[in-house]
Amino acid sequence: MAEPELRADACVTMRDPAAMLERLCAHFVEHGTVTHHDRGVRLEGRFGAVELCSAAGALDIAVTNPNETYLFVVTSSVAEHLHEFAEGETLKVGWRGNLPEQPRIPYFREAVVREAYDITPAMRRVILSCEDTAHFESGGLHVSVLIPPSGREPVWPGVGPDNRVIWPSGADELIRRIYTIRFIDHQRRELAIDVVLHDSSPGSTWARNAMPGDRVGLLGPGGGDVVAADWYLLCGDETALPAIARIAAELPTAARAKIVIEIADRAEQQALSSHAAIDVTWLHRGDAPAGTTDLLPQAVMGAARPEGDNPFVFVGCEQSAARAIRKHLRSAWKLPKDRHLVAAYWRRGHADAHDHGE
Ligand SMILES: Cc1cc2nc3c(=O)[nH]c(=O)nc-3n(C[C@H](O)[C@H](O)[C@H](O)COP(=O)(O)OP(=O)(O)OC[C@H]3O[C@@H](n4cnc5c(N)ncnc54)[C@H](O)[C@@H]3O)c2cc1C
Repeated sequence: MAEPELRADACVTMRDPAAMLERLCAHFVEHGTVTHHDRGVRLEGRFGAVELCSAAGALDIAVTNPNETYLFVVTSSVAEHLHEFAEGETLKVGWRGNLPEQPRIPYFREAVVREAYDITPAMRRVILSCEDTAHFESGGLHVSVLIPPSGREPVWPGVGPDNRVIWPSGADELIRRIYTIRFIDHQRRELAIDVVLHDSSPGSTWARNAMPGDRVGLLGPGGGDVVAADWYLLCGDETALPAIARIAAELPTAARAKIVIEIADRAEQQALSSHAAIDVTWLHRGDAPAGTTDLLPQAVMGAARPEGDNPFVFVGCEQSAARAIRKHLRSAWKLPKDRHLVAAYWRRGHADAHDHGE
């Protein structure tokens, strides 16, 4: 049975609603579908639909969605964009409808470090206790970990009256890094996060120093569920090893998967388990710094496109390698967009830089 629609409406007074509508459409066309009809415009993307209608001196907005989280994501994002495109005008965005009286980020949970230990020389596992592990079961593999300043009581992000997320600033500013949930233990109410220790970066430092009782915020999960296929290519460097290991562990018996992982050396290899037939290749880059080799693109270019109609390719690695692989999958393998997800998990020389994949 389809879930009942939730709805939120806003009528936002502004000088030139038609111009605002044009700006919103021009921006959104990069991210989803824009349909003009006789009553206005419909924007449709990953998180649902928005109807916009410019009237005299106001923009009418209607957001519908069966999902409380997505309703929040869309209303919050619409409010952000209205303010971004307001060109100096102060706008008041007031939502009415199926929104909670006490606004909160529906995909935020607090977690507490239970323990942390090295699983290989350069990978440290942080076990987090979280009351609501069920929340992380579906919708994606990764979370944004919000790390509060050391020695300070954390101040978590809140929600403004227009549903925009309000981030703590100054001494309370949070570090935000994306990690994969390697596994969930519902019985113990625990989540495991495997962090690559690459230097004295904020994420590595957090994992190295994590002590039982330390609090973190988690936003997510994100990225969507793994696409069903008969044959998989799962490919990445050590940052995607947790994702690849989790995907492999959850594949059905009938699936086949070719797995290619670049790591520094043999000491970084991990046992991967799966009900599916998996064929694992470890690529050792030796002394070359991470993100400087073309081992992963070369491996994909050397692999044969699978026979059959139902392949899926997942890739997570440094941006240059991700781009080279994406190009090859599209031009040589001619894989349609819904048959691959290639994400830049990090970008050499840039902090907190990634894309969530195309
Ligand atoms: C969807 C998704 C899932 C991810 N899952 C995981 C995961 O489970 N485990 C994990 O460890 N990472 C994961 N990552 C990658 C992680 O978010 C980035 O590596 C992030 O930059 C780490 O933050 P940091 O504070 O350590 O370094 P930053 O402060 O972001 O960067 C500091 C410097 O270190 C470099 N750098 C960043 N990462 C690496 C690296 N791995 N090796 C060498 N140099 C690096 C940067 O280029 C920059 O020069 C994931 C990323 C995405 C998008």
